[in-house]
Amino acid sequence: MVDFLKNEIFDIISKCGQEMNTRVFVIGGYVRDCFLQRHCTDIDIVVEGSGIELAQKVGEKVKSHVSVFKNFGTAMLMYKGLQIEFVGARKESYRSNSRKPIVENGTLKEDQERRDFTINALAFSLQKEDYGNLIDPFGGVKDLQEGLIRTPLNPDTTYSDDPLRMIRAIRFASQLQFKIVPESIESIKRNRKRLDILSRERIIEEMNKILMSNKPSIGLNLLQDCNLLEEFLPQISKLQGVETQDGKGHKDNFSHTLQVVDNVAAKSDNLWLRWAALLHDIGKPSTKKFEAGIGWTFHSHDFIGAKMIPGIFKQLKMPLNEKMKYVQKLVGLHLRPIALVEEHVTDSAVRRLLFDAGDDIDDLMLLCDADITSKNESKVKKHRENFLLVRQKLVEVEEKDAIRNFKNPITGEIVMDYFGIGPSKEIAIIKDYIKNAILDGEIENNHDQAFELMKKKGAEIGLKKQKENEE
Ligand code: ATP
Ligand code: MG
Repeated sequence: MVDFLKNEIFDIISKCGQEMNTRVFVIGGYVRDCFLQRHCTDIDIVVEGSGIELAQKVGEKVKSHVSVFKNFGTAMLMYKGLQIEFVGARKESYRSNSRKPIVENGTLKEDQERRDFTINALAFSLQKEDYGNLIDPFGGVKDLQEGLIRTPLNPDTTYSDDPLRMIRAIRFASQLQFKIVPESIESIKRNRKRLDILSRERIIEEMNKILMSNKPSIGLNLLQDCNLLEEFLPQISKLQGVETQDGKGHKDNFSHTLQVVDNVAAKSDNLWLRWAALLHDIGKPSTKKFEAGIGWTFHSHDFIGAKMIPGIFKQLKMPLNEKMKYVQKLVGLHLRPIALVEEHVTDSAVRRLLFDAGDDIDDLMLLCDADITSKNESKVKKHRENFLLVRQKLVEVEEKDAIRNFKNPITGEIVMDYFGIGPSKEIAIIKDYIKNAILDGEIENNHDQAFELMKKKGAEIGLKKQKENEE
């Protein structure tokens, strides 16, 4: 084990502990990740005494600034790219109506008991006499080897004390591709209503980690199977299920969505693109219809879905910022590229897509490609091939017409100057007309042709050229 502690900082912390005459340990994620050979730059130090005092002593020795969080009794310092957090060993007890524990000083054993999982309760000793010894009271290393998520105490106690641990269990299962032991799964199902006492922000922090794992469907399936998803994101939960009428079923939109998220995750690390994948079919349940002779339809689910996005962000207490707009835009446009495959790929349809997607066109294409799922392999293959044609066309049209960052060659000033008018609705009419003419390929995307069209359209709506401008 000593190998794990070869960084000199552990030696320094150990010596400071001796000077304070108190026992000090490395604990939690860092120890776990050492065994898993995962890269980890966050180190948690637990001390049977004051974490703040130890941090200050270490800070002095290594000449590093110490940030103290008095309210939490913790302190943190940076050392050569490592973030080291110090905390006193604690014992916690909880009241049933609050997540805020009553905290008292405790021993290492008590501190390990209040940790979420056996694999997160491992500690290395930093005492001189048994430096580097592993302290593993709950069989955490065995669980690491077997790939199991298990609580150190009775799962009902651990989960009800801090319900976030239910989502953390699923997050670790997704990140590490581990299994949650059956008694834990049962306990999570029993305790799911306890999610009510959690802030949405804490849930979303874990949700983002699930989405950022290599195969997010592992975590998303668990959230659904344990009935947690319906507690905080019922709109996704509702995608599950297949209805049949006249012998015709539709695809299960939940498993389809998960497949799309996994497909996106395999190609991109963009968290918000993964959110867009998760939410892309959110409009389906409310637009579903069975139409005789046609089958199941979900008309306008793209449009309805996009409209639902701000409400979902709000419900999850996620900021209504440009990330939300990005997700909304991708959800709203997610059918457009594939529609081009099915229809005839005209230049003007491609121009319009480029105009609407702007700089997000590549992400949209990635999402749309990921959206091609079917049990029928040859169908997928055919769709993908056709999709390549759309990609090609996009490149050609963009090279020729530069629509991606479209700027109307005719500005409001130009219109006002030429016709000698002030701000008015005529300006928007003219500019819109020019934009559409360019997108439809009636004129080229340049100033001179646009200027001529401005004169023509202006005359048509009764504007006259300003006197002093007359040639
Ligand atoms: P990562 O840093 O990759 O998210 P981690 O295991 O280090 O994983 P942190 O959230 O940094 O997770 O927490 C550090 C340690 O603190 C954990 O390993 C665990 O021992 C403990 N811990 C964190 N959150 C909780 C919680 N809600 N309940 C109990 N113990 C927790
Ligand atoms: Mg950590």
